[in-house]
Amino acid sequence: MQRIRTTCPYCGVGCGVRAEVADGRITGVEGDAAHPANFGRLCVKGTALHETLGNHGRLTRPRVDGVEVDWARALDAVAERLAATRDAHGPDAIGAYLSGQLLTEDYYVANKLFKGFLGTPHLDTNSRLCMASAVAAHKRAFGADAVPCCYEDLEEAELVVLVGSNLAWNHPVLYQRLKTAKQRNPLLRVVVIDPRVTDSCEIADLYLGLAPGSDGRLFNGLLAWMADTGRLDRVYLERHTTGLEAALAAAREDDVSVEAIAADCDVDPERLQTFFYWFATQLHVVTLFSQGINQSSSGTDKAGAIINCHLAGGKLGLPGAGPFSITGQPNAMGGREVGGLANQLAAHMDYDTPGALDRMRRFWSTERLVPSLPAGPGHKAVELFEAVERGEVQALWIMATNPVVSLPDANRVRAALAKCPLVIVSECVADTDLLPYADIVLPASSWSEKDGTVTNSERRLSRQRGILPPPGEARHDWWIITQVARRLGYGEAFAFEHPGEIFAEHARLSGFENRPGTPGERLFDISGLAGLDREEYDALEPVQWPVTAEAPRGTARLFEDGRYATPDGRARLVPVRPRGPAQALSAARPLRLNTGRVRDQWHTMTRTARAPQLMNHRPEPFIEITPEDAAALGVGDQQLARLSGAGGDYLGRVRLSKAQRRGEVFVPMHWNDRFSGAARMGGLLAAHLDPLSGQPELKQGAVSLAPLACGWEATLVVADELAGDPGWCEMAAYWARIPLAGAERWQLAGGGVEKAPRDWLAWVQKVLPVAPALWCDDSVGGRLRAAGLEDGKLRWWLMVGPPAELPGLAWLEARFAEAARGEPLDATRRRRLLAGCDDGAAEAGPMVCSCHQVGQRGILDAIRGGDRSVEALGARLACGTQCGSCVPELKALIEEETAVCAS
Ligand code: SF4
Repeated sequence: MQRIRTTCPYCGVGCGVRAEVADGRITGVEGDAAHPANFGRLCVKGTALHETLGNHGRLTRPRVDGVEVDWARALDAVAERLAATRDAHGPDAIGAYLSGQLLTEDYYVANKLFKGFLGTPHLDTNSRLCMASAVAAHKRAFGADAVPCCYEDLEEAELVVLVGSNLAWNHPVLYQRLKTAKQRNPLLRVVVIDPRVTDSCEIADLYLGLAPGSDGRLFNGLLAWMADTGRLDRVYLERHTTGLEAALAAAREDDVSVEAIAADCDVDPERLQTFFYWFATQLHVVTLFSQGINQSSSGTDKAGAIINCHLAGGKLGLPGAGPFSITGQPNAMGGREVGGLANQLAAHMDYDTPGALDRMRRFWSTERLVPSLPAGPGHKAVELFEAVERGEVQALWIMATNPVVSLPDANRVRAALAKCPLVIVSECVADTDLLPYADIVLPASSWSEKDGTVTNSERRLSRQRGILPPPGEARHDWWIITQVARRLGYGEAFAFEHPGEIFAEHARLSGFENRPGTPGERLFDISGLAGLDREEYDALEPVQWPVTAEAPRGTARLFEDGRYATPDGRARLVPVRPRGPAQALSAARPLRLNTGRVRDQWHTMTRTARAPQLMNHRPEPFIEITPEDAAALGVGDQQLARLSGAGGDYLGRVRLSKAQRRGEVFVPMHWNDRFSGAARMGGLLAAHLDPLSGQPELKQGAVSLAPLACGWEATLVVADELAGDPGWCEMAAYWARIPLAGAERWQLAGGGVEKAPRDWLAWVQKVLPVAPALWCDDSVGGRLRAAGLEDGKLRWWLMVGPPAELPGLAWLEARFAEAARGEPLDATRRRRLLAGCDDGAAEAGPMVCSCHQVGQRGILDAIRGGDRSVEALGARLACGTQCGSCVPELKALIEEETAVCAS
């Protein structure tokens, strides 16, 4: 067995992973103890990485106009059609939409081809949805898109403020680092500022449950409070910044009394005052912010208001101090480095950077091949699809992302793509919502096959290593792009044969004419890595940029000397005038919609849904709402409901939650048409953009909620081989597909008219090739259970009735696994089949501990039996003893259950 070091492909923490490889397979993964991001820890998603592998469901052959072709024909078609589009309509008719899932080397050659050689500026990335507002705020304040902090700063701080970040779920390993730091240093305080009481509140000394979108007002108020109470760092401001007076004047345009700020933010004034005092009186403060700040129509200003407070207090450029934007995606930062945003040119140079166009022309030698590089920025993500809709962009190449799910106004995106003359999709999964819109489909490699580098949220470059060969004819993205470039006549500029050669050019460019005191000076510089040979590239250890001759081991923290990347070397405080959400509430849409991730899922679930244990935490699309609002709207816990927004509808199961504020609902961002009938978050929202960053407002929608009238609910579990064509979706008003091990569970609901149980037997014979072998029905109660067997082996299992009556599905899952191995049911199990379990055990309930598959019901039983601590539950059930992500949920259950017992 070999152990190969690589990097997790999920979130922006960028954990090091050691993959165990035996017999040409990855048989297990563990955290890389030597990786400075995680020191051996992994969260539940990282721990399950090896279970998401396998060639099943992979895209393995190129397709042109629906016909499988070989690579030569596919690449010819891409090159010919792109060239034809450019010749007929000009370079601006070509666009590309990339992804933070791509490696830096993929990104580099894509940016080089589209901007440098095809001459179009319209190349953007789904990172626009994640952190573009932080990028814009960094540039405005620091003169460069530079994250000042490193993860160690969380351990060095006296105060850590989490704002717009559910770190416990979305960056779990970083959360565990913070939690450990707090255990080691009881003086370290944590403040959580979030409209929802998230799991991150587990370690909070103070929680501010502010009104959605009021963050800018809160931090503006803090700036004014610091000034009014003599807490500004006048020396730092004098030496290293400009703009204080204008920023303060803007803040003071509103009433800056604590009471007025508290009223506008809808928080308790005493708590707010405490936060202001803590922030103002500590020097070592880290404010960690994420999508809750960025995904807003005023995200740049919100991030700017946070940065203002750090600059005003001199809380930056020190150990344990600084504003710290954490990215959602594994390589959002790498994309920014190469210029993968439409407003960037390349290597941290913008179009208006003095001399940048000329520098790039010379570096890429483009002048011999095309008349000019694009003169100015291109369309940002949402605008790019609007340009497709208008017919201005006629050829679009989409790589490793799913805009028909993740963009706001996603139904409009679908319509735009449907009429786009040329849609090219590079993808590794065979079945996504996007593929039906593709004229040319290119099978791409995936994690464990891809070979290159990624950069995490603390500017740390790590190697993601190619371990397994791509399946079938899948190829690496960098290879596909360079092959197309060669066919377009740019062979010399794209003669790369290995990602290490691309990395070397990228590193050289970062240092090209990058000298202090010259117009070419820029912070992003990894020229110290430009000379790596193949072996050194393969062995590259994680390192934080800048990496230069002066700093060959990288740079942990930026701006330690107080010198910024602005022309005068000073950081800029900016005037911020807070704005509320662009999507106004109304009588028709009275609820404020928040969206986000859940603990065990990633993006559109193409990878995480392949690990059945990750589906058990939140198996169906859901709507979280307070019990009071639910009662007022006539919906109960676990009932189905419909949300209606400006972009369309969303169907999900109601979860009553005291973590929500009144008048607000939360839905997950992950579900798409592969997993449910109408649960695309992007389909609910209208597109409202931050005017500076172009980032859409995904956190503050406006919706209405109504119960979904259902005459029946059913659960159908089918063996994998029968799960191909979901014909049963057509008759259901609501459906959700939940992958199990060796089978699929379908939750179905529909109709105002109740089917008689016997009708279900006729129906099941129509949609499945295996006839019912066993059934029992209760006509009066409208219940039915039935099962189909073939040669004594279980093929399907059906329960008509509310899902609350489901037995524990683990027993059934094991029977389907036996059937897959060719084992027939023995007589005892056959007798128990309709019960769905050995002993009448009830459904385990929502999964709490995914690592050890411990459900909520077992945990509640143990608490009622006297296990009233996380340690006691861990000793009895093993829950919470591996990655630790479920510990906040365990604590919440203990607290709730203890309160119930006490009352
Ligand atoms: Fe992967 Fe992020 Fe989990 Fe680390 S914290 S293992 S990078 S998903």
